[in-house]
Amino acid sequence: MKTERKTIELDGSQGEGGGQILRTSLALSMVTGQPMAIEKIRAGRAKPGLMRQHLACVNAAAEISGAEVGGAELGSQSLRFAPGTVRAGDYRFAIASAGSCMLVLQTVLPPLLLAGTASRVHLSGGTHNPMAPPFHFLERAFAPLVRRLGADLQLTLRRCGFYPAGGGEVEAEIVPAAGVLQPFDLMARGDAQTGYAECLAPGLPRHVSTRELDTLGGAMGWSGEQLRHGNARQNEGPGNALLATLAYDHVTEVFTAFGEKSLSAEQVAHGLVKELRAFQKSEAAVGPHLADQLALLLALAAWQGQKACAFTCSEVTEHTRTNCAVIERFLPVRFTIAESRQACTVRVSPD
Ligand code: ATP
Repeated sequence: MKTERKTIELDGSQGEGGGQILRTSLALSMVTGQPMAIEKIRAGRAKPGLMRQHLACVNAAAEISGAEVGGAELGSQSLRFAPGTVRAGDYRFAIASAGSCMLVLQTVLPPLLLAGTASRVHLSGGTHNPMAPPFHFLERAFAPLVRRLGADLQLTLRRCGFYPAGGGEVEAEIVPAAGVLQPFDLMARGDAQTGYAECLAPGLPRHVSTRELDTLGGAMGWSGEQLRHGNARQNEGPGNALLATLAYDHVTEVFTAFGEKSLSAEQVAHGLVKELRAFQKSEAAVGPHLADQLALLLALAAWQGQKACAFTCSEVTEHTRTNCAVIERFLPVRFTIAESRQACTVRVSPD
């Protein structure tokens, strides 16, 4: 199902203007075989161009697809990428800094899901970073949706990695679908099954996680088994991620807040409560982060299965809009977005 090999030119400052434009373009360039060129990469950011984490994504993409690459240097604001054939296999991708290795997975997952045979990917770097999907979000919220497409994604956390030390390790097993990816609709979350929180705070005094959990538990009406001290080892820190998991009949969502020196444990918990309440108040199936990541999965399925599909989300972020616009540059699909206070609908149809 390869489309014509013309170079797709992208403006990296469009819309949200962040690293996701790069990762989605790399992923879909590999999926379709179309070369691409991006200018003004992360132009609006305080440190524009390719940071270590983005460079690791480019290098990983080049390795799995044997691509010819130009401009892959730290700080570079332009990149040319011409993929060869994607090869399933065993790979190891490391980020030398504490940059998120989960974003490297976000880059290589789509092509490896369509690569014919299974792959095993060992990732190292940050596993719980602000502004990136934390490990537990990918494991509990995202991976089950990959399985609903008929493929499989199994994730194992060997070691947590936080900023600034990094050093986290994750194994990912990626198994393509037997045939094409199967489109599905995700319009409602269904009835609530469970809600619980866990605090990962290795290398920090125990009272930090106790206060975060108590504050969250007080606000959400959670107690006992619903409030857990996560089992990161002391030498995996210092770090602080407070995670809340909401499981429903049709979807599981994971929301995360990160501790910072300038924030009290109570402020960290209150920030998370705000996100949880916003999601609970809406009637949507998924939250804002799962939305931008699901858009890409469902676009691939709509394209392969030649069938429209849709989901509802609590909010359409600039990330989601930008991701949809980038996806439309590579795949013959169209997105329509209908916003409403109760739930926004994102629909993707084959062209
Ligand atoms: P930049 O540094 O250019 O802003 P970036 O490379 O760090 O960008 P973004 O473009 O901001 O990346 O994309 C971040 C990705 O991480 C998005 O897919 C977003 O949905 C996801 N993400 C961010 N925070 C969370 C979270 N708490 N839970 C799940 N996913 C998240």
